Amino acid sequence: MDRFEPNLRIPGPTSLPPSVREAGARQMINHRGPEFAAMLERILTGMKPYFGTSSDIAMITTAGTGGLEAAIVNTLSPGDRVLAVSIGAFGDRFAKIARTYGADVTTIEVEWGQAAEPAVLREELRRDPAYRAVLLTHNETSTGVMNPIPELAAVVRQLAPGALILVDSVSGLGAVPFQMDAWGVDVVVTGSQKAWMAAPGLAMIAASPRAWAAMQTATMPRVYLDLRAHRDSHAAGETPWTPAIAVVYQVDEGIRLMSAEGADSVFARHEACAAAARAGLRALGFELFADQRHASRTVTAAAVPDDLDWKPFNAEIKRRGLILAGGQGKLAGKVFRLGHLGSITLEEILGAMSVLEFVSISAGRAVRPGSAVAAAQIAALESFGVATPAVAGAGG
Ligand SMILES: *Cc1c(COP(=O)(O)O)cnc(C)c1O
Repeated sequence: MDRFEPNLRIPGPTSLPPSVREAGARQMINHRGPEFAAMLERILTGMKPYFGTSSDIAMITTAGTGGLEAAIVNTLSPGDRVLAVSIGAFGDRFAKIARTYGADVTTIEVEWGQAAEPAVLREELRRDPAYRAVLLTHNETSTGVMNPIPELAAVVRQLAPGALILVDSVSGLGAVPFQMDAWGVDVVVTGSQKAWMAAPGLAMIAASPRAWAAMQTATMPRVYLDLRAHRDSHAAGETPWTPAIAVVYQVDEGIRLMSAEGADSVFARHEACAAAARAGLRALGFELFADQRHASRTVTAAAVPDDLDWKPFNAEIKRRGLILAGGQGKLAGKVFRLGHLGSITLEEILGAMSVLEFVSISAGRAVRPGSAVAAAQIAALESFGVATPAVAGAGG
């Protein structure tokens, strides 16, 4: 294990490109000086197209969960009626934060593995359009499902025009297109260790003019997470408190890499890697957990088959240098997850498939050598729009 780096394929933190790691090792600077101000400006400007907003973005030194907490405490007051649409563990967490701070939370519990249906949301908002906020998860990392945010947001905007739409896109933003302004979303949260090719430690939050206005009257308690303090400080090229400078260096470099690649290429790469991951896992005989009409482009969850003893199987995978994520919450022991976000390359997915093939065959499972790699390769070629020639030996 100490001769090579493991192929870290969990849905965050992701493994980092060399230049990002080097950026994190740089000497500290004065966080109230001009170099920091220039760096902050590059980051906030560079992220705007990924949020799809012309509004102000705040960068907070905190895990993604701190970003979700900021979304709640800045815009709501105790007693506010909140509709939480939960499709998995992270949806449950968002609802819990709101409840903990005294919101009156109603939850729509969607079966894990499924996306939220706009029709179900429509029904609830027809029944009661007076919610102060609706909480949505863009990409549910625990189940590998991506919600149709434009359709869900359109239902809220139409039936509950006064409600704020708060979206957890911690594991989606930067990897898949998002149009916050065009979709009428009010707050979007993301985290440095997911699509942004950086270490954990920073959450980025964009708020619509409506959300910024709500902060003037919202009374939930906040000091460290007060977004108004961040916005005022950002306007002066600073952060209100000492930021995680090493992670700021990394996010700056991550965004530089993403800009050089181009947002459309970043999105296409994620789509191809996701297609490859799904096809490869299927070829290995695993059943995908998510409703495939709403399959995530950043993480794939597969069911652990009844006839597979997962612990020794995973130990062997790990010994061969591939690190997968297990199931979260009530899915512990029932699914495993393969992350494909950040600096992910097709070669890394194909490498993961070759390890899974080797370990599957060694464990006596009926898998043909090369079949998962081939299936993944073909799916990626298709995703990139490259025709596969009909030659002997090709095919899954
Ligand atoms: C990772 C993640 C979070 C939480 O991020 P932490 O940095 O672990 O607090 C929240 N929501 C989603 C969808 C995530 O994937």
